[in-house]
Amino acid sequence: MPHTICLIEGDGIGPEVTAAARAVLDASGAELTWLPLAAGAAAAERFGDTIPEATLEAIRTHRIALKGPVTTPVGKGFTSVNVRLRKTFNLYAAVRPVRSLRGIRTRYENVEIVVIRENTEGLYSGIEHEVVPGVIETLKVTTKAGCERIARYAFAYARSRGRKKVTVFHKANIMKRADGLFLDCARRMHEEVAPEIALEELIIDNGCMQLVRDPSRFDVLLMENYNGDMVSDLCAGLVGGLGVVPGANIGDEGAIFEAVHGSAPDIAGKDLANPLALVMSGVMMLNHLGESAAADRIKAAYDDVLAQGDPDELTRDIGGRAGTKAFTRALLERLSRGVD
Ligand code: NAD
Repeated sequence: MPHTICLIEGDGIGPEVTAAARAVLDASGAELTWLPLAAGAAAAERFGDTIPEATLEAIRTHRIALKGPVTTPVGKGFTSVNVRLRKTFNLYAAVRPVRSLRGIRTRYENVEIVVIRENTEGLYSGIEHEVVPGVIETLKVTTKAGCERIARYAFAYARSRGRKKVTVFHKANIMKRADGLFLDCARRMHEEVAPEIALEELIIDNGCMQLVRDPSRFDVLLMENYNGDMVSDLCAGLVGGLGVVPGANIGDEGAIFEAVHGSAPDIAGKDLANPLALVMSGVMMLNHLGESAAADRIKAAYDDVLAQGDPDELTRDIGGRAGTKAFTRALLERLSRGVD
């Protein structure tokens, strides 16, 4: 069945990695029609808005997007495009699988974690004001409805994928009411949705220590927005970095697939970016669309390239000396050869 995919190339390394992902997905056998859309810093310059109405309308209609990273100014300027998209389309669950990959050498083996992050509220509500000069308040907004739906999603996800344990990271010892509510909802959804799955609760500082000591003891991680942002990057570091961790932003009426990494301005336009994280996000998208055969073909292709470990086929962040284009060519070559 043909699918129309909204494609946001984004800023920085975005155009390079989205071009790579698009080529790989096109070679997978899935029938995809791409709808290129503007968003990000470049869109702001061209259209006067970081997310032009035409982009919003297209996502509203087609409900599926593959998105490159976008730049957000630090300490000033416009609201994050990512936060806006996630809130506009109620993409409340960020799902980030983090797994050890054969051929990528790291300190750890057997990492098989999925980070599930609440994506629409918490500290990222973007509500800040100056109470009196020199005193800023940032509001952390936590709602029962928001906590329940992410917890329900996490337990349903764990059950549908045969996972054994959900660990909630929280700071309810300090934020007794906000994180207390998050924890309370997790306990109730556990009972309601999947009581057979183990529920573990860890204060987040201890959780981070346990993660770097032995990540293999974790299965599904559930947390609120801000904590999930930090822990996602931490987890990426356990398995080879931001170049190898994909993501999905899922809501009840749509989904946007994107890598965990940002626009990496330090390497933009230099043919240095690892396109794998976005390719893997594309694989998540194909599975979401029911195109599992095409998804499996891409997975087999990158597994083969990584396992071969030829430095002329891997980008520098994962131990090679190749560029984005050479890595992409290697993936396309495996797809055309049909490796299993
Ligand atoms: P970043 O993820 O862009 O980069 C962090 C480090 O990882 C850099 O050294 C970078 O070179 C490296 N890196 C990232 N992706 C890589 C890849 N695919 N291949 C090889 N190396 C890679 O984080 P940052 O530098 O803190 O943020 C840069 C910009 O990206 C900021 O404006 C930030 O707001 C934005 N950002 C966007 C998203 C998104 O659009 N989803 C996510 C995170 C950050």
